Amino acid sequence: MKGQILLVSGPSGSGKSTLLKRLFSEEKGIYFSISSTTRAIRDGEINGVHYNFISKEEFEEGIKNDEFLEWAQVHKNYYGTSLKPVKEQLELGNIVVFDIDVQGFAIAREKFKSLITSVFITTTNKKELKKRLESRGTDNAKTIENRLMNAVGEMEHILEYDYFLINDDIQKSYKGLRSIVRAMRLKSTNINLRQTVENWIDC
Ligand code: ADP
Ligand code: 5GP
Repeated sequence: MKGQILLVSGPSGSGKSTLLKRLFSEEKGIYFSISSTTRAIRDGEINGVHYNFISKEEFEEGIKNDEFLEWAQVHKNYYGTSLKPVKEQLELGNIVVFDIDVQGFAIAREKFKSLITSVFITTTNKKELKKRLESRGTDNAKTIENRLMNAVGEMEHILEYDYFLINDDIQKSYKGLRSIVRAMRLKSTNINLRQTVENWIDC
């Protein structure tokens, strides 16, 4: 496979979607792995763009049929990454972006180790995360409490990731993320070694 995986994790509300949206609009050859989920669709979300919103029964059928390269239960809902579209994009040499939780990262890492560059994105502190979840206005107080509790557990995994971004200033964080993508494109593993050496000798 020629492509690579940019795997992003971090507490819900830390700004992952906001940063990724900008990345997709500004960088070429990047494909978003659309996860499937059983959680309710939020205002502003589009089925088949942000997620494939499916029922619990459909999700469990997908698990049975081995359709997911990884899946997890997050905030009491199922979330999973479909294997087929990811493989297709990797064959095309694209960078495939996963926005998945720490459990999904552990599984994906086992399967695609050398292809993954991982980034953990968070806020300066828990108070700021709460503020963002409240101002996003997509979750009720109970869901926000649940997400904050989950965030504490996720923070324990920071050291497992290649990069760490504190998304305080959006401009600065975006530049950080873009630098990571640009460095991925320069990885020596992207080079066709034989071709490169032959070209070098011939000239
Ligand atoms: P996630 O995808 O990690 O759940 P979002 O991208 O939905 O998070 O961001 C959560 C909220 O925080 C949104 O309302 C977004 O506009 C806001 N936000 C994102 N980045 C910043 C930032 N650096 N400073 C302030 N607010 C931000
Ligand atoms: P949200 O409900 O805020 O969109 O996402 C909640 C959490 O689920 C986030 O931490 C997000 O990264 C994670 N997530 C989204 N898609 C997947 C997926 O396909 N697999 C796993 N393991 N986690 C996912």
